[in-house]
Amino acid sequence: MIHMKIFMAAASLALLTACSSDAQSAEEPAESVEQQETEAAAEKEKVEKEAAEKAEREKAEAEAEAKAKAEAEKPEYKLNPAFWGFEPVNGASEEAVLITIDDAPDKRSLEMAETLKEKGIPAIFFVNGHFLDTDEEKETLKKIHDMGFAIGNHTETHAILPTISEEQQREEILAVSKTIEETIGEKPKFFRAPQGANTDFSRELVAEEGMLLMNWTYGYDWEQQYMDAAALTDIMVNSEFLQNGANLLMHDREWTAEALPDIIDGLSKKGYSFIDPSKIEGVE
Ligand SMILES: [Zn+2]
Repeated sequence: MIHMKIFMAAASLALLTACSSDAQSAEEPAESVEQQETEAAAEKEKVEKEAAEKAEREKAEAEAEAKAKAEAEKPEYKLNPAFWGFEPVNGASEEAVLITIDDAPDKRSLEMAETLKEKGIPAIFFVNGHFLDTDEEKETLKKIHDMGFAIGNHTETHAILPTISEEQQREEILAVSKTIEETIGEKPKFFRAPQGANTDFSRELVAEEGMLLMNWTYGYDWEQQYMDAAALTDIMVNSEFLQNGANLLMHDREWTAEALPDIIDGLSKKGYSFIDPSKIEGVE
């Protein structure tokens, strides 16, 4: 019996040992799960925090980018029809002029565009439909636009608008806009009537078409005495009409193409910068 008791005790001890060892080994993973859960929670929190920080960073970057874009797109000048020149807005420099080249792209426009591009000077080229009849002429327009210059509408055939019917005025204005759009992929944003002669009808149509109508402050290259590069340079740089914001009219002409580098240099030397047409208020 005693033997039996000892056996029982030994057995239960063994059982107890087995139990406690089982319990211990069962408890260990239990602790480990808890620990794993804690670690997983910490990891999750870290990932979430990092994601939140990343999102915050991206949001700030996007905001800074949008702000810079809005800043870059902010107009710098607005047209003043009193002298067809420009006044600075948003803190742009007052001492600036706009270069415009009319009757393009006839014979010298591409060369004039290259001169301007080389000097980093923006400009508007006002084009006529009768200079866009051939593929070669259209290619020239495309090149000028691809060089970054603004393209304006100067009517289809250089017609004097007050002398023709409203239907003809419509045709003069819309036909060249259509050719421009087909050639460069966008409509012209500016309009200048031949000889600056508009009608109520043309003004309305130009506004409906989303173009900014402008004449000019001064120009000389169509006058006999200035059909010479030196004389033209002198008058363009020293004109009594040169003022802050002046809108300078030049044409696709031999003497103007020749004078253009010196005109730019002369105006720069006088402290003028050059207005970027894409920074004119009301131009998209
Ligand atoms: Zn003209």
